[in-house]
Amino acid sequence: LIAFLLYLFFLVAPVGQLVSGFTQVQGGLAAVKRIREIEDLPAEETAGPVPAPGTAPAGVTFESVGFRYGDDRPMVHHDVSFAVPAGGMTALVGPSGAGKSTVFALLERFYEQQSGTITFDGRDIRHWPLAELRAAVGYVEQDAPVLDGSLRENLLFAAPDVPEEEVRRVLALTRLEDLVARLPEGLDTKVGHRGVLLSGGERQRVAIARALLRRPRLLLLDEATSQLDAVNELRLREVIAEVARETTVLVIAHRLSTVTGADRIVVMEAGRVRAVGTHDELLDGDDLYRELAATQFLLPT
Ligand code: ADP
Ligand code: MG
Repeated sequence: LIAFLLYLFFLVAPVGQLVSGFTQVQGGLAAVKRIREIEDLPAEETAGPVPAPGTAPAGVTFESVGFRYGDDRPMVHHDVSFAVPAGGMTALVGPSGAGKSTVFALLERFYEQQSGTITFDGRDIRHWPLAELRAAVGYVEQDAPVLDGSLRENLLFAAPDVPEEEVRRVLALTRLEDLVARLPEGLDTKVGHRGVLLSGGERQRVAIARALLRRPRLLLLDEATSQLDAVNELRLREVIAEVARETTVLVIAHRLSTVTGADRIVVMEAGRVRAVGTHDELLDGDDLYRELAATQFLLPT
């Protein structure tokens, strides 16, 4: 929740607007450069959809990252290294306290590591203008809050100018169409404490939709640990798989059904990466992963 408030503060702070004006200018320059690049390509490579500038999936690397939350605090990350290629889905798993959520906090630059390097789209995140970095990284926190207001406001407060057809596309992608159809006033129905209460599964999908409407180049998803019914669990799995076709997804996974669909899994324990592989590789090769898989995850967080 603190991260979410920081994020809200960041969005409403006037300096944010100044910076976002600057970002638009930069975006414009990037677009011109991109068009030049496209013009230079042979014709067959320009066939098919060309992603808008600055929206292509981006990869991430952690290179020997060492981190503690304060000088008098214990190390949380010891020499953490792993790579998340652009596009597709990478899952982070490991026991509570392993340092998974801290990976997200460092990527969003809520804190800075004491040693090592983190890159986003091939560039050290310390060299990214903060507003640009955060505009490019979508973050869906665990138990993301639904604010009092209409469902539309909940989806669009961070992306007010998104065209209606894009809203509809994202609603379909996040399997929220049925919910919208069921609500008495559709998207304009009040939700949250003073309106219709959404289920845990619906809330997480609303948070994913909200993040996607900002067209992130990387989506960070801290999966909710609350028990989902079979239908909602299946929907979440489908949604993550679909999102991973349009952007890079890095998910802190708490359920086995999520990780079995991942392109690769990074197993963390006590601030270190202990193994990386697919589900089948890790079942064979990593004792901790085998133990986690046997419990189906959903450990207390
Ligand atoms: P995980 O998400 O794998 O459960 P975390 O990254 O949340 O692990 O936490 C790793 C360690 O860092 C834990 O010992 C936790 O207590 C500590 N920690 C997490 N967040 C903070 C914070 N904001 N301030 C101080 N310590 C923290
Ligand atoms: Mg966590």
